[in-house]
Amino acid sequence: MRLSYDFCVHHTRNGPTGFEPMKRYSAFAIAREALSGHKNWERAWRNAQPKSRYDVVIVGAGGHGLATAYYLGKNFGITNVAVIEKGWLGGGNTGRNTTIIRSNYLQDPSAAIYEKARSLYETLSQELNYNVMFSPRGVMMLAQTEHEVRGYLRTAHANALQGVETRFITPREVKEIVPIINLDGPRYPVLGALWQERAGTARHDAVAWGYARACSAMGMDIIQKCEVTGVRQEGGRVTGVQTTKGDISCEKLGIVVAGHSGDMAARAGFRLPIESVPLQALVSEPIKPIMDCVVMANTVHGYMSQSDKGEMVIGGGTDGHNAYTQRGSFHHIEETVRALVETFPMVSRLKMLRQWGGIVDVTGDRSPILSKTPLEGCFINAGWGTGGFKAIPGSGWGFAELMARGESSLCEEFSMWRFGEGKFIDESVAAGVAH
Ligand SMILES: Cc1cc2nc3c(=O)[nH]c(=O)nc-3n(C[C@H](O)[C@H](O)[C@H](O)COP(=O)(O)OP(=O)(O)OC[C@H]3O[C@@H](n4cnc5c(N)ncnc54)[C@H](O)[C@@H]3O)c2cc1C
Repeated sequence: MRLSYDFCVHHTRNGPTGFEPMKRYSAFAIAREALSGHKNWERAWRNAQPKSRYDVVIVGAGGHGLATAYYLGKNFGITNVAVIEKGWLGGGNTGRNTTIIRSNYLQDPSAAIYEKARSLYETLSQELNYNVMFSPRGVMMLAQTEHEVRGYLRTAHANALQGVETRFITPREVKEIVPIINLDGPRYPVLGALWQERAGTARHDAVAWGYARACSAMGMDIIQKCEVTGVRQEGGRVTGVQTTKGDISCEKLGIVVAGHSGDMAARAGFRLPIESVPLQALVSEPIKPIMDCVVMANTVHGYMSQSDKGEMVIGGGTDGHNAYTQRGSFHHIEETVRALVETFPMVSRLKMLRQWGGIVDVTGDRSPILSKTPLEGCFINAGWGTGGFKAIPGSGWGFAELMARGESSLCEEFSMWRFGEGKFIDESVAAGVAH
């Protein structure tokens, strides 16, 4: 049965009796719940236990896995779906990133999928009836060498042809938008910037939670604390998965596990051209509002924005080695802060509050893989590296289409076989840091 979206957001499956109305979030609902001391809010999603069979199993309840499940239900009426997560929902990179959303990529296939995502972000809160706090505050990528000026001018022209709104701005305009910036750094003066006004940030957990709630409302099962330990197959076709909560059969399998993509692919019997590396970030103590956009300085590997709480959210490049450790380290604080101090001298007086790390999966051309695999019925969504948060709605949209129909114009160029065929989508030259 094809479920209309209206049905989905207003109903949830409660127990064995089927669907019962689900309460909408609204200002009125807040007032109503306040009367009972906020004790009667219903669970945002059911904590499901696995059934023995589903039409589709998605491994990984990060943003990309949940968005895929959501658009499978919304766009294709496929709701007999389980999303299986070894930890807690959104606890991977989706809950660890610095939330930058932009679509100013150089290559056409990238611009298409990231712009699709950015435009879906614009109305995602209304669509999911969940405030994902999308804040189109603008993203500025500083040009601090002649090479970068030429590169960003080229990207601005490419974006104009792709229908992505960006422009190259002068140092004076940079200073007007970001008064705290120092334009005349001794090593890297600011020579201009690529400016995307409708880019910005969103609350990362809320994106996962919003999709999870909508999936659960469609009757999908989100199964947490359940690790997929093996992929079952017969005659070259996927038949199910082995998990720490028992075997589950499925018609189609989507692997959406970010930093663990290589590991999961090995369990399914194929290899991916992918590396897993730690990526770290840190936040400062909260301070008064000083900067209302995101600034990225890719030459020196540092970027910064200010959270709603007032903390400066700071990130840099990936660690220089492969690892699976999701934690921060002192050298990263030093390197990233040192990089930023020349352009933002005020950073030297900030106290840093906390830091953390995630494991990102990086491909050779710094572009993702959204692809069929050598195992029939098994699909892979991986390789978003340091920049996949911004892509979540677009990736889910395209990957759901690929899984449902076997093809998708958004995913066409991102096949895993492009590396063998030499059809790279080379974004690595376009940006030193890909957030
Ligand atoms: C510090 C940092 C900063 C970043 N900043 C940005 C940014 O500013 N903008 C941006 O666009 N992107 C950013 N990124 C990248 C972005 O976070 C990721 O590309 C994106 O979140 C990937 O989402 P995902 O759903 O694919 O993966 P995840 O959110 O990692 O979800 C994958 C899930 O799979 C689960 N899993 C793994 N193996 C198994 C298994 N065997 N069985 C069951 N479950 C399994 C994991 O537990 C995990 O929850 C950043 C990343 C980091 C680490």
